[in-house]
Amino acid sequence: MNAVKQSENVTVGKVPLLINGEWVDSQTAQWRAVINPATQEVLAHVPLATAAEVNAAIETAHAAFASWRNTSIGSRMRIMLKFQALVRENMSRIAAVLTAEQGKTLPDAEGDIFRGLEVVEHACSVGTLQLGEFAENVAGGVDTYTLRQPIGVCAGITPFNFPAMIPLWMFPMAIVCGNTFVLKPSEQDPLSTMELVKLALDAGVPKGVLNVVHGGKEVVDALCTHKRVQAVSFVGSTSVGEHVYRLASEHGKRAQSMMGAKNHAVVLPDANRQQTLNALVGAGFGAAGQRCMATSVVVLVGTARDWVPDLVEKAHALKVNAGHEAKTDVGPVVSRAAKERVLKLIEEGVNAGAKLVLDGRQVKVAGYEEGNFIGPTIFTDVTTQMSVYTNEIFGPVLVVLGVDTLDDAIRLVNANPFGNGVGLFTQSGAAARKFQNEIDVGQVGINIPIPVPVPFFSFTGSRGSKLGDLGPYGKQVVQFYTQTKTVTARWFDDATVSDGVNTTISLR
Ligand code: NAD
Repeated sequence: MNAVKQSENVTVGKVPLLINGEWVDSQTAQWRAVINPATQEVLAHVPLATAAEVNAAIETAHAAFASWRNTSIGSRMRIMLKFQALVRENMSRIAAVLTAEQGKTLPDAEGDIFRGLEVVEHACSVGTLQLGEFAENVAGGVDTYTLRQPIGVCAGITPFNFPAMIPLWMFPMAIVCGNTFVLKPSEQDPLSTMELVKLALDAGVPKGVLNVVHGGKEVVDALCTHKRVQAVSFVGSTSVGEHVYRLASEHGKRAQSMMGAKNHAVVLPDANRQQTLNALVGAGFGAAGQRCMATSVVVLVGTARDWVPDLVEKAHALKVNAGHEAKTDVGPVVSRAAKERVLKLIEEGVNAGAKLVLDGRQVKVAGYEEGNFIGPTIFTDVTTQMSVYTNEIFGPVLVVLGVDTLDDAIRLVNANPFGNGVGLFTQSGAAARKFQNEIDVGQVGINIPIPVPVPFFSFTGSRGSKLGDLGPYGKQVVQFYTQTKTVTARWFDDATVSDGVNTTISLR
């Protein structure tokens, strides 16, 4: 395998690490291929970094913190301004890399980058986000104020399904607050993430402030346990997220884990029929169902149960093809293993007695016979005990349940352990108000299928979909990436008369 060229070409051959501003060839013996899921072409090889390399990345981040934390807020914001301009300029180029390694359609890849870009734009206003508070004269001549100070080295571990957006949820906000960062992208599709990291360096992020290591469990565990790391942000599956949260917390770090989901869409019979069906099909099968906020369960209430044939018809009309082909609606799933897993779950649904009203298993894509394609698949007659309901399928599979009333639907959703996203489709304001009040899910859409908040709010998944109080991006993550120091100060001038020694706690 050829040695990697330096920074001009981080997406061919071997994927480098980034340590102290240098693109570094890993010395590891363990590499895995980055594979185009539509063609099986090997795009690059990614290292599973050695313990020494991970340690070097963390130590370099620690060393860089001393000067970065004292860099003015204005300078940090200007780097983010430059970074957002570069990301915008390079969006279509990076989208092509993202589609090649991840599989989603080109427009959806641009959306992946754009939703991350919005976080970078928000990072440009950190001057106001990081303001402290001031109270004058809290006691005679005494003032109290708070400083929101950076915490040091932060680490981020990201999943395969949004290789642009999720790294951009993490490192821009962490570093603009004055921290340094070690990023561990998904080893399945690190190439578009690396393109964004390169642009961050081009924008002026100094040496050591942003570092990248690649790998799997061993690298993640090293980040969660290293004494220099102060905070760990994780986005990915529930089992790994629970492990990361526990391990990092046990080692005294701040931790936040955004995890798996089973997102329900509740449809009342008074909903706008065409708008609702379009939303369900788009949110169920877009990105081949590999979004943490994908609609994966449709709950049809009352006479809305009659809408199944229309739902099937619309889903059947979607075009399955390679993501870079024009007019593709549904690309391949990320890997052969992911495809096998989804097919196994579909098989389990059939064996458990669910009715397969649309079967995408035999889909063939001309010219891409080796691709990991699964066509849109819909089950009805699903019960809450079936594995197609209890598992996050993370593929283009919708399960449909029917209930009699809105109360039944709310009970059903609230009994599911996940709490990432939920949607209600209705034209009744009263029903919507009741739903938003009683539903126990962190992100609620009213006639919106994928209610991911824009970055001046925060991502607010709940219950089994999240560990940690604070979400990624937005105001919450400024809290996560800073610590509040309270200063209580009193200044004397020469004319101040001493009031003598006081051994009593203040009564005022
Ligand atoms: P994953 O958990 O397999 O991988 C996520 C990260 O953890 C990767 O960087 C991976 O290298 C690392 N990892 C994998 N196995 C590990 C182990 N045993 N120990 C330590 N680290 C390990 O997740 P994925 O398949 O890449 O992503 C899909 C999952 O992410 C889905 O469950 C999806 O719902 C979830 N997700 C959640 C959100 C959210 O905001 N809640 C957003 C996107 C994705």
